[in-house]
This record gives sequence, C-alpha cells and structure tokens, in this order.
Amino acid sequence: RAKHDGRDGYRYFSEELFLKAKARLELEQRLHRAITGQEFKVFYQPQISIKTNQIIGAEALLRWDDPEYGLIPPSEFISVAEETGLIQNIGEWVLYETCRQGRDWLDQHLPPINLAVNLSPLQLHHGDVRQLIGTILHNSGFPAHHLELELTESALMEQQEETVKILQGLRQQGIRIAIDDFGTGYSSLAYLKQFPLDVLKIDKRFVEDIPHERDDMEIAATIVAMGHSLRLTVLAEGVETKAQLEFLEQQGCDYYQGYLYSMPLPAEEFAQLLSQQNPPVTQAHIGKLRES
Ligand code: C2E
Ligand code: MG
Ligand code: MG
Ligand code: MG
Repeated sequence: RAKHDGRDGYRYFSEELFLKAKARLELEQRLHRAITGQEFKVFYQPQISIKTNQIIGAEALLRWDDPEYGLIPPSEFISVAEETGLIQNIGEWVLYETCRQGRDWLDQHLPPINLAVNLSPLQLHHGDVRQLIGTILHNSGFPAHHLELELTESALMEQQEETVKILQGLRQQGIRIAIDDFGTGYSSLAYLKQFPLDVLKIDKRFVEDIPHERDDMEIAATIVAMGHSLRLTVLAEGVETKAQLEFLEQQGCDYYQGYLYSMPLPAEEFAQLLSQQNPPVTQAHIGKLRES
C-alpha cells in the first residue's frame, strides 16, 4: 500500500511540474507578444526632497497591461524575463520610453526632474550598455544629467572590475548611479566604496517597522550616516507614515519615496501632480528678487 501511495505521489508531483512548466512557457509566449503588442506601460513614482517637500525626481516602474489578466506587477514577470533574456528588449524599451517621456515633460516646461530607471544585472553585463544608453539619450533628446540608473547590490557583485569600468563610463556621460534595495544583499558600505556611485536607496524593509522596531531604526540611521560619509545622497524607499518620515528627517535622510506621498502613477497623472508644484526657488530667482 505504501508503495502504491508513493506511485500516486510521484504522479501528482510530475503533473504539478508539468503544469508549472506549461504556465511558464505560456508566460514566456505572452511576454513575447507583450513586447510587440504595446502592452507595457511605465508608471512614475515621485521622489521627494525631505527638506523642501518638493518632487525632485521619479522612479520609472514597469507595468504590464495584459488584455486577458489586466495589470500584472513586475514581481510576476521580471524574473522570467531575466531567465529568458527577454529583459534585454524590455529594459531597452523602458529606457527609451522613460527618456522620451522625460523629454516631452521638459518641452511642456514642467519643472525639470530626475528620472530613475531600474537596470537588470543582465543589461549591465551583456552588450555595450554605455553605447546603448548613449544612443537612447541622443535619439530621445533627454539630458544625461537627468537620468539615473538603479542597480541592485547583486549586480555589483558580478565581475567587479568590469563593473567599475562600465559605471565610470556611464558617469562620464553625466548619468547618476543609484544602489537599489540597499541592505538586502551581502555587500557592506566598505565594499561599495570601490564603485562610482551617487545615490543609496534604503530598502523598504528597514523603513516599514519604524518607529516600532529599534533594530530597523538603528540600521536605517546607520545607512544614512555611512552613506553621507561616502558623500552619497540617501533616499528611503517605502515611506508610508508620517512617523517614518519624521524619523528619517531627524537622521538627515535626503529624499524619500512611498505611498505617504504617492503611489506610482500613470504618466498623465504624474505630470499633473508635477505641474501643480510651485517652481523651486533657485539661486537665480532669489537674485532677481533682491535686485528689484
Ligand atoms: P524597486 O525598484 O525597489 O521599486 C520599488 C517598489 O516598491 C515598487 O514596486 C513600488 O511600487 C513599491 N513601493 C513604492 N512605495 C511603496 C510603499 O510605500 N510601500 C510599499 N509596500 N511598496 C512601495 P513594483 O513597481 O511592484 O516593482 C517591484 C520591483 O520590480 C522593483 O523594485 C524593481 O526591482 C522591479 N522593476 C520594476 N520596473 C522594472 C524595470 O523597468 N526593469 C527592471 N529590471 N526591474 C523593474
Ligand atoms: Mg528601483
Ligand atoms: Mg527598491
Ligand atoms: Mg521588518
């Protein structure tokens, strides 16, 4: 009897594997179709200066609007896109679309902001990413100094020397580099020191339990202090409450992103939010006021 059960168990197991493989193949085919069928969209989540409470940038976040299933979050398909290599095409599309949109907003005289795009490790290590981005910036007319690229720690762990060179090349073009989800990988800030970086993004898992988890508060505070000692700008992700924001402000954190200010928005809604913002008080503006 036990053997019989075992056989049943085995059959059930292989059937489950079969269904998984089938679902995956279907997802892969639907992703192929999505690329050609214009089913992708970019949403924009504001990045806010904690000091001035103004929008200084936005993170571009990919959304897949499947005709059958509706909006599908990236967590459902990015890993399959990476495994199949489709992320190259998708990532290139996100970069171009974001730069095109950014140029459009500049032409509409919206306040100039930075646009941050997530880059998969594959995009960094396969092909000439510097040339690709150079072409995209040229064709879209979006200024390099408004573009930021977000990389995870794991992207930096591979082929370190080559990575340093690639990042240096990108920064020579005027592009900024941000480390995403900081604190979730295995790298230390000392390790990060060897890379040319501009922004450190504190992962939301260290933010979500402020002000209840002392350990998370210590970690967040330490990342802000050490980030600053490396002359990096520090941004906190996933800020949902006033208490979290107040704590981060006390620590001297520079920027934040999170549902407290806004969810990621479709381009038109983000543009509307941005257009309602008073123009930043620039030095030139102050100068003019004093003259008159
Ligand atoms: P990420 O780059 O760390 O992006 C931040 C994620 O946190 C986004 O999830 C955003 O919607 C979510 N988020 C923002 N504010 C809050 C908040 O206050 N609370 C909580 N709980 N979550 C918040 P999303 O859009 O689902 O993206 C998930 C991940 O997918 C991204 O994490 C990024 O790693 C990846 N991803 C998204 N778009 C792209 C892309 O174009 N290319 C690549 N390679 N990866 C992407
Ligand atoms: Mg990101
Ligand atoms: Mg992140
Ligand atoms: Mg926690």
